[in-house]
Amino acid sequence: MAFMVKHMIGGQLKDLTGSLGEEKAEGEKSEAAAKGMTQEEFEEYQQQLAEEKIEREANFAQKKAERATVRSHIREKYRLPKASSITYQINTTSELDETQIQGANKDVELPSELAKMIAEDTQEEENKQSVLGQLKSLQDVDIDQLKDKAQATFVDLKETELHAHLNGSVSIETMDKLIARKPHLNIESSRTAIHGGQHRTLSECFKVFKVIHQLVDSEEDILMVAKSVIEEFAADGVKYLELRSTPREETKTGLSKRRYIETVLEAIHQCKQEEVDIDVRFLVAVDRRNGPEVAMETVKLAEDFMLSSDGLVVGLDLSGDPTVGHGKDLLPALQRARNCGLKLALHMSEVPSQKEESELLLDLPPDRIGHGTFLHPEAGGSDSLVDKICKLNIPLELCLTSNVKGQTVPSYDKHHFQYWYGRQHPCVLCTDDKGVFCTDLSQEYHLAASTFGLTQDAVWSLSQQAIQCSFAPESVKQKLEQRWAELRPHVLH
Ligand SMILES: [Zn+2]
Repeated sequence: MAFMVKHMIGGQLKDLTGSLGEEKAEGEKSEAAAKGMTQEEFEEYQQQLAEEKIEREANFAQKKAERATVRSHIREKYRLPKASSITYQINTTSELDETQIQGANKDVELPSELAKMIAEDTQEEENKQSVLGQLKSLQDVDIDQLKDKAQATFVDLKETELHAHLNGSVSIETMDKLIARKPHLNIESSRTAIHGGQHRTLSECFKVFKVIHQLVDSEEDILMVAKSVIEEFAADGVKYLELRSTPREETKTGLSKRRYIETVLEAIHQCKQEEVDIDVRFLVAVDRRNGPEVAMETVKLAEDFMLSSDGLVVGLDLSGDPTVGHGKDLLPALQRARNCGLKLALHMSEVPSQKEESELLLDLPPDRIGHGTFLHPEAGGSDSLVDKICKLNIPLELCLTSNVKGQTVPSYDKHHFQYWYGRQHPCVLCTDDKGVFCTDLSQEYHLAASTFGLTQDAVWSLSQQAIQCSFAPESVKQKLEQRWAELRPHVLH
């Protein structure tokens, strides 16, 4: 978590500096040229910066509300006593929480200076500490245990990440290194991530990837990026990771699609040699925008690697801009992948217009579904889609932050996690693009727990269930299950 907070604040500082430094000494036209943009792109960029500032403020209110919700939940869950000596403080904090929760919904105006934001944040943490301090004096409540319990879920939780795109997972730190390597591109890091409470349309999110692809275009870049991403997931508590990426070729750096995959696998090997405590597998991705021929080529490549990578390449992903192309054209490639033994993780119904396509893809059927935002009838999908998925028990990879920031879901509490989880359907929490959306897997578990009031047991089960949804060989699944079983009593007291 601390890891994420550092990222977010780092990003905000950078953004703030960026916004303040916009003195237009030589007019916008030349400034646009200096940044390598057309006038139109530059104006859009300026507009984006202004919007980002407003969104940052709204996000701060949202963050406070989220924390307040967690506190309210913990208070309720553990039925904290309201003894006279502590009533005042608890009530004060409780009222504060209420205000913050309501405030976020009403888009309250908050101080814009970052310093003030951080100061308030610290104050709030201090208040929380002092409440716990007061409670400590009560004999009938074991506060140390309570505090441990409240924090353990998110600090000690071990995780399985099954939906992570390599390029979208690049952290701001790594992005800065890439930017420093390629100064001629004139790229600012604020263009490679969607910070705090910012939101973008799905198509704007895909534009962010275009910028990232410019930065990651050689074997050297891919190796660095893949190793950093793996280490960061490991640092967050992820013990099993399935990374996915579309192999790209870059004539100017001599990068071929085959070398692209080999380099990712090399990064996995190096991390293993360096004893990074994480098991990593790879899914070769088909970008739907590139059409059926490229899809077939990619499947053949994936098939080769599945047979030669000693179990590292386990499956195929279908992703890319969901508004481009139709899944029916890709069916022969996907069918071939399935027949040769590659597991299928398909992005499905990410936008409302994909109902017919989802029907077709479900006939394959896939082994896991990415997002599936509009599959259920309440979101414009259908009972028949839901019935098929339930009958086949196909797990869903759900990415809360990605969907809210990408604006396919209006808010966390409206996320379709609730629909599927409520039906006890296998749901796996994932990050999608932890770098682009400034999140990590602990944060996603935290969000799900606080938004939907999950108990620690429920959070633990959710994390454990993900093991069986992975494409890992049975022996690896068993080892992970054993590890989870051993850890459980240490995390849940
Ligand atoms: Zn995705």
